[in-house]
Amino acid sequence: METTLVLLKPDTVQRGLIGQIISRFENKWLKIVWLKMISLSEDIVNEHYDFLMDKPFFPKIKSYMTSSPVVALVLAWTDVVKTVRNLTWATNPSDALPGSIRWDFALTIDANIIHASDSRETAAIEVKRFFKEDEITSYEKISDKIVG
Ligand code: GDP
Repeated sequence: METTLVLLKPDTVQRGLIGQIISRFENKWLKIVWLKMISLSEDIVNEHYDFLMDKPFFPKIKSYMTSSPVVALVLAWTDVVKTVRNLTWATNPSDALPGSIRWDFALTIDANIIHASDSRETAAIEVKRFFKEDEITSYEKISDKIVG
């Protein structure tokens, strides 16, 4: 089954929105394969957002992402990368579709609540970045029988 990496960013933790965001995934029947709260080091933020390192807003991203713990999840389902990107929607919440996570909860492009891998290739790298192989839980969920 395809997997993707989600980070619930510091504003999700600080605003007490963890449960509401995770409910979006559970309502969609996505399988939560692993979940943990972690404090990000500057090194892992540099690695995760290295393609933005030259942008003037990079220092802002860095201080935001290290300002509080984040919740990291691995989700699994058929086409899960696309599904979670659609649930998340646009980087700038004012461009997001009503009903999406960023439309409903995000404040600004700086504090946009959630990270979700943008392709299968990126997801494979990002899952490994945040979870060691032996951390990934293997369990049968009743919905696995539907996905096959
Ligand atoms: P995402 O996949 O929608 O999260 O967007 P990107 O991968 O392009 O950017 C990563 C993160 O950098 C975004 O979620 C934003 O928090 C931040 N970011 C991206 N573009 C901008 C920008 O133009 N201005 C600011 N302030 N932050 C940005």
